[in-house]
Amino acid sequence: MFIGPPGVGKGTQAERLAAAQGIAKISTGDVLRAAVRHGTPLGRQAKAFMDSGALVPDELVIGMLAERLKADDTKSGYLLDGFPRTLPQAEALETMLVSRGERLDRAVAFEAAADVIVARLSGRRGCPACGKVYHVTNDPSSRGTMCGGCGTALTQRDDDREETIRKRLTVYERETAPVLSYYQARGVLTTLDGTAPIDQVAARVETALGGRRSA
Ligand code: AMP
Repeated sequence: MFIGPPGVGKGTQAERLAAAQGIAKISTGDVLRAAVRHGTPLGRQAKAFMDSGALVPDELVIGMLAERLKADDTKSGYLLDGFPRTLPQAEALETMLVSRGERLDRAVAFEAAADVIVARLSGRRGCPACGKVYHVTNDPSSRGTMCGGCGTALTQRDDDREETIRKRLTVYERETAPVLSYYQARGVLTTLDGTAPIDQVAARVETALGGRRSA
């Protein structure tokens, strides 16, 4: 599981790690954005919360994750990106894991200062077709404003505006920081500096997960 404030680079690392390990990456933010795009009942309920930088209510996100975990691609392990974000979500996850006969290998927390985060998020661009994420200066697409993977025009997220970023950071400190103590107390938390270059962070993630089986 990856935990961290918005823009700390956990999505980029999650994408790399899941590909390297051949496991599913479950990003609740991505699932919610897809629901909004498709105009599902969940998406219609979640949209206003997301646009304002608030968290989507626990019961909606927990139900959504329970559904997602039913898919076959979770059978050989999976990486959670952006869940849990509150203590009730962490507790609900624990119950789900127990009922599935699974346990959490490791919670990796990424840290970065607020001004670094604002700079990162304002330069973030994503591919609406394949989901790949870039940064205009730190990790640009090989095809400029188009996705290096599939050629689709890259877009900027609505909630990556400065005012909304600051709100999301406040929400993180209030709601999600206690989740770190929850996993710290269980002895499964590793904290990393998310501001190091992407390859270095990836190497540290690998070390944190050392000994984890790959299937
Ligand atoms: P992210 O892409 O992880 O930054 O998530 C984007 C937005 O989706 C967040 O600002 C929240 O509004 C919502 N969201 C994603 N994951 C969760 C979660 N676990 N709990 C509540 N809201 C979430």
